[in-house]
Amino acid sequence: KSGSPGAISTPTYNSLQTYPNVTGNRANATFVLLARNSDLLGVINSMQSAEDRFNRFYNYPWVLLNDEPFTEEFKDRVSVLTRAPIHFGLIPKEHWDQPPWIDEDRARESRQKMMAKKIIYGGGSVSYRNMCRYNSGFFYRHELVQPYRYYWRVEPDVRFFCDLDYDPFLYMQEHDKVYSFTISLVEWEPTIPTLWRTVKEFIDEYPHYVENHNAMDFLSNDGGKTYNLCHFWSNFEIADMEFWRSEAYTAFFDYLELKGGFYYERWGDAPVHSIAAALFARRDQIHFFRDIGYKHDSFQHCPSGEQHRLNRCACDPKDTFDYTPNSCLAKFEKLFG
Ligand code: GDP
Ligand code: MN
Repeated sequence: KSGSPGAISTPTYNSLQTYPNVTGNRANATFVLLARNSDLLGVINSMQSAEDRFNRFYNYPWVLLNDEPFTEEFKDRVSVLTRAPIHFGLIPKEHWDQPPWIDEDRARESRQKMMAKKIIYGGGSVSYRNMCRYNSGFFYRHELVQPYRYYWRVEPDVRFFCDLDYDPFLYMQEHDKVYSFTISLVEWEPTIPTLWRTVKEFIDEYPHYVENHNAMDFLSNDGGKTYNLCHFWSNFEIADMEFWRSEAYTAFFDYLELKGGFYYERWGDAPVHSIAAALFARRDQIHFFRDIGYKHDSFQHCPSGEQHRLNRCACDPKDTFDYTPNSCLAKFEKLFG
């Protein structure tokens, strides 16, 4: 497979769209997609969307990861969707499985309690918890992901609504951004009853990891005493893995890991990543990609105005999560006055 932009044939122009300006400049970046073999159709949908709206012009590589080997059928069906290099990776057991030192009785009790409370979001399954922990602290250590600095996380069955006519990885790099989002919202408190207490213990113990110009006000309405449950929806992320690989985040993840909350509660990678980005990065290093139209499950972000027209967005600009009651976007924007 050819990964060079020069291999792309001349596209057809129309009045709305200009061919993206693919210069020689490229970021050291990849797509990362975690999936099961049973997610095949959803993976195809997501990859087709990402390719059609962006990557067929840029040909950034794909890394697909699974805790079981991908089947030949999976690999064949997915490989036709892109001209970029695709890598299929197996996740090592030590990165995925519930660690042996976790008290399984206590973990089981928590799963059963969450099932009973109908906290369906993975509350009842070990695999969902493994996934949340993996996305929090391990994907960026996978040998196929190690070589890259920036990644774009994609999940099965997401949709990108608009053309993207510039390179978001280069945008991140050139503007010194470390984390980005399209949708932010409030977390379900019963999944993280002791997470904030743990975060406060961590910052008491390691105050030097906290960035001076942080985004604490995005997370807390009372200067850090309590968590307002705001977080970035991490099924979409474009971010800098140097941040996850940093001393601060490594210490933070290890601290959370030892508390066992990925299994004794159901700590999600979304609040974990969000809290870290908000506290250990400068607030101006977090970016809202307003121009990336995106849908996951029932929530979507749809750009409006000029962006909607120029980028041929296939979504209803009125149907957007941006300033709805459970969104935290207004709070994010308030950080910048
Ligand atoms: P939700 O978005 O919170 O509803 O969670 P998903 O079911 O979409 O899972 C999040 C991501 O992890 C998706 O990319 C899934 O394909 C992936 N995932 C979830 N559970 C597993 C699993 O047990 N094995 C593998 N390989 N991937 C998983
Ligand atoms: Mn999902």
